[in-house]
Amino acid sequence: MKDNATHPLKLFNRLPRELEIFTPVHPGEARVYTCGPTVYNYQHIGNMRAYIFADLLGRTLSWKGYQLTHIINITDVGHLTSDADAGDDKMEKAAAKAGKSAWDIAKYYTDAYWLDIDRLNIRQPAKWSIATDHVEEMIEFAKKIADKHCYECETGLYFDTTTVPDYGALARANTDEGEGRIETVEGKRNQNDFAIWRKTPPGETRQMEWDSPWGKGAPGWHLECSQMSMKYLGETFDIHTGGIDHREIHHPNEIAQNQAHNCSAHSGANIWMHNNFLIDRAGKMSKSSGDFLRLQVLIDKGIHPLAYRLMCLQAHYRSELEFTWENLVAALTRLKRIVMGVGKQRAKAAGNQAVIEHPRLVQIRQQLNEAISDDLNSSKCLPLLEDLLAQKKLPADQCLSLIAAFDHILGLDLLALKRSDLRVRSKDATIDETDIEQKIDQRQQAKSDKDFALADAIRNELTAQGVDLMDGDPLRWEWRIEI
Ligand code: AMP
Ligand code: ZN
Repeated sequence: MKDNATHPLKLFNRLPRELEIFTPVHPGEARVYTCGPTVYNYQHIGNMRAYIFADLLGRTLSWKGYQLTHIINITDVGHLTSDADAGDDKMEKAAAKAGKSAWDIAKYYTDAYWLDIDRLNIRQPAKWSIATDHVEEMIEFAKKIADKHCYECETGLYFDTTTVPDYGALARANTDEGEGRIETVEGKRNQNDFAIWRKTPPGETRQMEWDSPWGKGAPGWHLECSQMSMKYLGETFDIHTGGIDHREIHHPNEIAQNQAHNCSAHSGANIWMHNNFLIDRAGKMSKSSGDFLRLQVLIDKGIHPLAYRLMCLQAHYRSELEFTWENLVAALTRLKRIVMGVGKQRAKAAGNQAVIEHPRLVQIRQQLNEAISDDLNSSKCLPLLEDLLAQKKLPADQCLSLIAAFDHILGLDLLALKRSDLRVRSKDATIDETDIEQKIDQRQQAKSDKDFALADAIRNELTAQGVDLMDGDPLRWEWRIEI
């Protein structure tokens, strides 16, 4: 893997707004923190784009030979209905609505999220850091910064954002946009100040509450990520990621707390990276819009989840990506072609370990390295992979080892996926697959016998059952179930 490190990895750091060469805090290591889900509901496919991006980053770092420590948190307390500490706790609200405990809600949606993580072939982080497991340490964190940087008011302990240098540097350019709006809370000194501890209102009991020097209550969402990232990765670590909405409030607030805690102007992470939104025609995909697309909806329609991963990889993580079913089906077709190409190489491979790589493959490997080192340009890696698969005369064993390198980075499970795994197969389909295959064979026979009436009758019979025969498909993808 050493050669992979020869090309320096350039990443876009939002803080200076520049591409920077990745230089780890601890030589040979990469320490990454990713803001994870708030588990009061399912994650939609837009949320999952954020983890596909973080996974691409982690895979690239490890392919380049860095020893990766990746932490993703689970926010199971503290995230209010507004990012700026107004409204209700999302968890408590969802629990009240469902008539369940907040703990049950958190467990249910965390499990659903983990299932989607697996389905998208996203690698497990070193740790899933659960917010409610760290509340005592969050209180210690808050105690440390309370005197110098915080003030108490009726609803909680607030962070005074004027006590740290250059508050909001990460967001600034966008403060007029909707994402950056701040709601007023009684008693706050400055508009941008935020709660690091939220007191349980007098006379109320919350399902999730803890004793603290400021009374019973719960930690603020921003405090969670500051405390957990520094606990596991150190006071100065390499990379912090999240979706671009976090650039406006959540990450600036984390930075302010990190600065206060470390008594330093440094933001805590050397590089701050944000994935852009998945949008649909109605705009940014969001949970508050009520009706949102989950990975399960795609699966129910018979689309393999890795087709969605490929769809994300086709766009640069910093570009907006529009979701349409057409784009998704096109990504599925592309994945099928790739998988069939890999299948051909596998069939040819003899299991020989080559000592010297063919010069053409050396070149493709280098191009892959250049593309991914250019701020994770996954969209550029895909045609290189296709180019590799189009090579007919090169030793298959060597091709396979280069395919494995592509897959280390892209995570499309290329060495295990089979063509038959990718057939569009909707949840509602009641047809038996062997029946379909048999009918297709019969139709093929009828065609060779020039019995076109029979061939048409078989086609009509299948169409009536929702099976779309794909005559003339250059992939010979004979059939699919209509979605
Ligand atoms: P949440 O569960 O709301 O805290 O969000 C989980 C992650 O998804 C965060 O990193 C968000 O920034 C990110 N995110 C939210 N909406 C989208 C979207 N439409 N496209 C891409 N990422 C998103
Ligand atoms: Zn966070």
